[in-house]
Amino acid sequence: MPVLKLAIPTPLRTLFDYLPPLDCDLTKLQPGARLRVPFGRREVTAYLVGQSTESDLDASSLKAADALLDSQSLLSTPLLGLCTWAADYYQHPPGEVYQAAFPKTLRQGQPHRYNSEPGWQLSTRGKGLPAGALARSPKQALALGILQEQPQVTLRELKEAGISPAVLKALADKGLAERCDVRLATTAAKTGAALQPSAEQAEILTSIRSAGTNFHCHLIEGVTGSGKTEVYLQLIADCLAANQQALLLIPEIGLTPQTLARFSKRFQAEIAVLHSGLSDAQRYSAWEAARSGSAHIVIGTRSAVFTPMARPGLIVVDEEHDQSFKQQDGFRYSARDVAVKRGQLENCPVILGSATPSLESLHNALQGRYAHHRMLQRAGHSQLPTIEAIDVRKAPLQAGLSPALLQAMERCLQSSQQVLLFLNRRGYAPTLQCHDCGWIAECKDCDARLTLHRRQRRLRCHHCGTAGPLLHSCPQCQSKQLVSLGLGTEQTEDWLRQHLGQWPLYRVDSDSMQGRESMHTLVEQINRGEPCILLGTQMLTKGHHFPAVSLVGVIDMDAMLFSTDFRGEERASQLLTQVSGRAGRAKHRGRVLLQTHHPDHSVLQAMLSQPYHQQALAMLERRRLASLPPAGQLLIARTDCADADHGEQFLVDLRASAQSQLPAGIDMIGPLPAPMQRRAGRFRSQLLVHTADRRLSRLAARTLVHLAQAQPASRGLNWSLDVDPQDM
Ligand code: ADP
Ligand code: ZN
Ligand code: ZN
Repeated sequence: MPVLKLAIPTPLRTLFDYLPPLDCDLTKLQPGARLRVPFGRREVTAYLVGQSTESDLDASSLKAADALLDSQSLLSTPLLGLCTWAADYYQHPPGEVYQAAFPKTLRQGQPHRYNSEPGWQLSTRGKGLPAGALARSPKQALALGILQEQPQVTLRELKEAGISPAVLKALADKGLAERCDVRLATTAAKTGAALQPSAEQAEILTSIRSAGTNFHCHLIEGVTGSGKTEVYLQLIADCLAANQQALLLIPEIGLTPQTLARFSKRFQAEIAVLHSGLSDAQRYSAWEAARSGSAHIVIGTRSAVFTPMARPGLIVVDEEHDQSFKQQDGFRYSARDVAVKRGQLENCPVILGSATPSLESLHNALQGRYAHHRMLQRAGHSQLPTIEAIDVRKAPLQAGLSPALLQAMERCLQSSQQVLLFLNRRGYAPTLQCHDCGWIAECKDCDARLTLHRRQRRLRCHHCGTAGPLLHSCPQCQSKQLVSLGLGTEQTEDWLRQHLGQWPLYRVDSDSMQGRESMHTLVEQINRGEPCILLGTQMLTKGHHFPAVSLVGVIDMDAMLFSTDFRGEERASQLLTQVSGRAGRAKHRGRVLLQTHHPDHSVLQAMLSQPYHQQALAMLERRRLASLPPAGQLLIARTDCADADHGEQFLVDLRASAQSQLPAGIDMIGPLPAPMQRRAGRFRSQLLVHTADRRLSRLAARTLVHLAQAQPASRGLNWSLDVDPQDM
């Protein structure tokens, strides 16, 4: 009897041994198939990873699985390999990794179904009729004729052929035809006319095409608006022409309407879209379209990197530097890095694109691991904007706006162009304070202040989501003198509506934009091109194309300059370059104004004097000197716990036992409290592990997880390992 090696979603980093279900056809046990198994007192869905003839456990103690749920594997061999690789690389429980490749309904153990449409087929009796039967009823004869030509015909096709439901019912009443589900057929995709590539685009296309259709990773570093998307479109067209599927990963949901519109305009093809805003049924159907191969193009956010595909031929990661590609809890993978590994296992090309590549990717490109393609010019006739700082020291600010910025805004609006204001803080004000006693509204569960949201009349914590009513008196001294400190988008919006009310204003942040549709409508409205003010957070900066924006104002540049994280400077340069990139995308040259109290700050000076590429090279050099990623590798062992001491003690013990086992070249720092020690009522500590290279880093990861699993943990303590952490 074979022993099944199963991945089961639990916190344990191991595979589980089971016997096959009784009465199971052993030839149907394919890796990637799901089984239902008893686990503790529950029944859970497990994923078959492999089989063995032996087990470390006593054969008599092995339980049998209850049922095999799939008679074929739903995952291809390369995708199974990817899951195995990811479970090892991220040292994450295999069950949770395998689960990432399945939609919710299948994780819950529901049966796998093909995507289908309602249709009709002949019954056994109907199949017995000769051609040309039912001549006395021409409509029924026509329907019969159609059903005789193909085994199954969709209701849609029957309607198109002029067959009414009544005719079909008549055939059914005679016992000649019956309803059925018709599996969607794969049709060939068609591609519409491409733009004439610019010289830079043509060169990149030639170079990528000549690298072939096997695995090869390409970094396209092209300034904002240089036409990267057009390059992706043309490469995807090649992929579809070779009857293969393309996977495009994008950072966020806000991007999908515009991206989708562009794709559906170019391709007559089935596009499966996967993002967090879908219902379970929609998600399933998109997943199945990708898996079965009926979808030609798969577009999705982070988790789509694990979507099964029947004929993958190209993987594109757009805005590859974006932080949203890194999952920040649970299974902490980087979708960009997993995408590159997937390309290697599927043996297809991978394209990473960005105007502001991550230092990791740039490093790989400079080392020759990735082909490096640069685009320095904007496509069409637009030019890159000019960037200037406004010294706001001593300037009278109104809702954060200096006279110089206001003047520039008015001039821009009067000449019928659009203004984009960037303020990366939503709500009305980040702090509410009592003027009489100094009390500050803080979250009871986090080391954080509550943000005042005037419109919703609430105090909200942006870290744990807690919201409470707006206070009217101080809970400490009962004074009514509660004052707001600091600036959020709502406050600037109020002021602008009062003082520049003649111009339409659109606020774009996650409070004002609930759902995909509102962003879609807004983008359409803005792109009619009438003068208006756009005011928003980071949400506004990602990938959008607003041709009529010619002035970008960064209200609080200083918020980007001071960060405790060693990646702070990289993030600031990327964000600023991306925000600036929204300006002047059409005929007018754009202008970017940065308000700052620190005009001499070195990061700011670098931004004013050099394009991103030069800044990035300088940052890489500093990382190299400090042996920080990508020059060295980091791991973080994290704990969170209701009791601060338990978490810290766990890491102290872990460090002590690791110290004696790990070779030289692995440095541990901490444990230390996390930058925000208490979040959502739990205390967080972290042990930082620094290694000089990947080999040591993988050794350290395995050792730490092995030791942590063997170590007794107090009740309610969660620990995890973050490989290649993005936030410290
Ligand atoms: P990116 O993805 O680099 O930001 P896009 O591909 O969105 O750039 O291109 C920016 C703008 O330039 C778009 O409006 C696009 O239609 C236009 N564009 C891109 N390539 C060409 C081309 N070869 N000829 C004319 N216009 C182009
Ligand atoms: Zn008070
Ligand atoms: Zn909170």
